[in-house]
Amino acid sequence: MEQVNKPIIELVTKPNTPNPLIPQTMKDVAEIFGKIEYRRVASSTSGAISITNGFGIKNLVVVELPIVGRKCIHRLLVPNFTAALSAIEKGGKASSIHRLPNGRWSFGTQAARLKRGGTTLSLHTWGIAVDINWPENPMGQIGHLDPFIVERFKAEDFAWGGDWEHRDDMHFEYFKTRPRRA
Ligand SMILES: [Zn+2]
Repeated sequence: MEQVNKPIIELVTKPNTPNPLIPQTMKDVAEIFGKIEYRRVASSTSGAISITNGFGIKNLVVVELPIVGRKCIHRLLVPNFTAALSAIEKGGKASSIHRLPNGRWSFGTQAARLKRGGTTLSLHTWGIAVDINWPENPMGQIGHLDPFIVERFKAEDFAWGGDWEHRDDMHFEYFKTRPRRA
């Protein structure tokens, strides 16, 4: 078969990066996405931490994503975030992702912190999780996310917190799918 050079735009819209393995354990997360060393921020009541090794420089990137613009995410998930948001935009559902009163997008990606109320690192620290439209989708309640958002993120191998026993509708993470509610 004849070899055809692909146009450069292909590289931009569909980055030529294989999808990373989906981690099944926190050990997998460190192996696939990088080891994080950190210390607690003593003054923080919301579980903020400071990363103390070179994790961020090596692994986090700020990229221009469809709909929501510049966001900090893990470099290995650029194709997944791009594909999910691009499909939402092409599906005519861009307006289903909302802005906050301050004008910023309600699309929270990387944040260096512990799990809410927990003592282990949140997957947001690795830039492999996102909270969407959080004001209307508080943890523990049935929220108001457009099912198309859920479908498109699941298609890119994100697990949705709305499927969990203790539901967290705003939250998506690139991690094993947990048992669903009966
Ligand atoms: Zn979250």
